Amino acid sequence: MELSEKVRKAIRNVPNFPKEGIQFKDITPILSEPKLVSEILDYWENVYRSEPIDAIIGIESRGFMLGAALAERLQKPFIPIRKVGKLPYETVTFIYDLEYGSSEVEMHKDALKPNWNVLVHDDLLATGGTAMAAAELTKKMNAQVYGYCFLVELAFLEGRERIESYSKNVDSLAI
Ligand code: AMP
Repeated sequence: MELSEKVRKAIRNVPNFPKEGIQFKDITPILSEPKLVSEILDYWENVYRSEPIDAIIGIESRGFMLGAALAERLQKPFIPIRKVGKLPYETVTFIYDLEYGSSEVEMHKDALKPNWNVLVHDDLLATGGTAMAAAELTKKMNAQVYGYCFLVELAFLEGRERIESYSKNVDSLAI
């Protein structure tokens, strides 16, 4: 079975969470399968190993697990983007719209060096607002988005179109 199909099968669809009309893509069953996690990391490691990436950004909170694991595989710094008020040191912030509601995210102001190429990781691409916020924070730090990698992309929401102006290098395992 292809990796994308394995990922698709492992994801649990939860209707009407966190509110009516949203079908939540629960990735926790993937995390319960260490062999599948290894396969995902092998795949991404292979894709990005020879690319000029200086750091991996993971978006709170479901971008932390595989983002940090991939950063270790690539031996690059892992940088968390968190919801406002969670990071202890001085931050840069950005406000954006979600599929459900709006949010404000931040990054430590010394997390990225100028001109770094970063890979943005999250579990899921929906409207692209969150990934765009990560790209905007990256820009604020005078660094640039090299690419994005997601486990899942909800193509009907056309988030890809929103984030491609920062980088056209978008890899989603399950679309
Ligand atoms: P967006 O900013 O609209 O691209 O939404 C992506 C962010 O919201 C990611 O951090 C996802 O974890 C979360 N998210 C949005 N929609 C869903 C969904 N249907 N299932 C699971 N997570 C979602």
